[in-house]
Amino acid sequence: DVLLAIESTCDETAAAVVSRGGRVLGECIATQEKLHERFGGVVPEIAARAHLERILPVIDTALTQAGIRGRDLHAIAVADRPGLAGSLLVGVVAAKSLALAWQKPLVAINHLHAHLYACQLSQSDANVYPAVGLIVSGGHTTLYLCHDPVDLEYLGGTIDDAAGEAFDKVAAMLSLGFPGGVEVARWAARGNDRAFAFPRSKQHDGSDDFSFSGLKTAVRYAIVGPGRQDFATLELSDQTKADVCASFEAAVVDVLVAKTRKAINRCGVRRLLVGGGVAANQRLRRDLATAAEQDDFEVVIAPPELCTDNAVMGAIAWKQIDRDDFATLDLDITPGLQRGF
Ligand code: ATP
Ligand code: MG
Ligand code: FE
Repeated sequence: DVLLAIESTCDETAAAVVSRGGRVLGECIATQEKLHERFGGVVPEIAARAHLERILPVIDTALTQAGIRGRDLHAIAVADRPGLAGSLLVGVVAAKSLALAWQKPLVAINHLHAHLYACQLSQSDANVYPAVGLIVSGGHTTLYLCHDPVDLEYLGGTIDDAAGEAFDKVAAMLSLGFPGGVEVARWAARGNDRAFAFPRSKQHDGSDDFSFSGLKTAVRYAIVGPGRQDFATLELSDQTKADVCASFEAAVVDVLVAKTRKAINRCGVRRLLVGGGVAANQRLRRDLATAAEQDDFEVVIAPPELCTDNAVMGAIAWKQIDRDDFATLDLDITPGLQRGF
């Protein structure tokens, strides 16, 4: 049994053919990084148009690689929430059209649940649920209690910027390119993480919520001082850039680790799943591993290529199929989610 999974929630056009056991038979990802780079962020209209051009070739490549014809599929799965409206629409319309043409059942995937399910895919046999789940992506920073892959209880989330968004904005302030997370992390490795005393917002407020916009403003002031907007003409030494990146990264990671660890100890589960692009961050992985050792819990993080957007994590659709959780052909997109659902 194999299914086709389609992912187009943001700026990655992706398709994968995955078996019931989670084996990947075919996969294709078209990234749009080059298209959005000069804007320092994803431009929704450009993203939607690029998805439209790429979606069918990407699906075709995944199917061809797998040696599977449309009529051999068991189902077609697509991420219908959350994400950019225009981007989601392209994937959902493609999935519905193919489901109709090939007479296949349709499955609607929650992209955030899929990000956490990537952790399950990284384990061969062991069931990783129940667990606390931390999503740290470009659009979300959310803690869940995960009873199983599709039964998640919202604990808390960011009240303003997402962690990945903060990385991208700091990268833009320092002209480090887009997407910024990888670049900021690269610079941080050569910097002094105590050069700047950046705020750890909400670290000790007792909630499971996060806030990163104050940190972003603190970084801005550290670079240009209050009142100035103009980053392009700034001349910062490489050492200062590295120090800003290292101090910023430390502030983000400190809060993520402190809050996650508190949630784990309060919820009584002994396992943590981490998903989303920022889960690829080495400092976060290292500090979570240290916390896990001290507090005696297990951390499961997918390999970096499964942390950022991909269609392989759409294998979560098998769990929905097992529960007869199918969508109908009038499936609509849900761009924003209330409290992560
Ligand atoms: P969402 O899943 O919330 O809809 P998204 O799909 O755009 O958002 P992802 O693809 O999961 O987000 O992650 C992209 C984010 O991860 C970007 O903000 C990027 O800067 C960040 N990122 C990627 N690698 C790293 C890294 N090594 N360190 C820090 N951040 C990183
Ligand atoms: Mg992306
Ligand atoms: Fe994502």
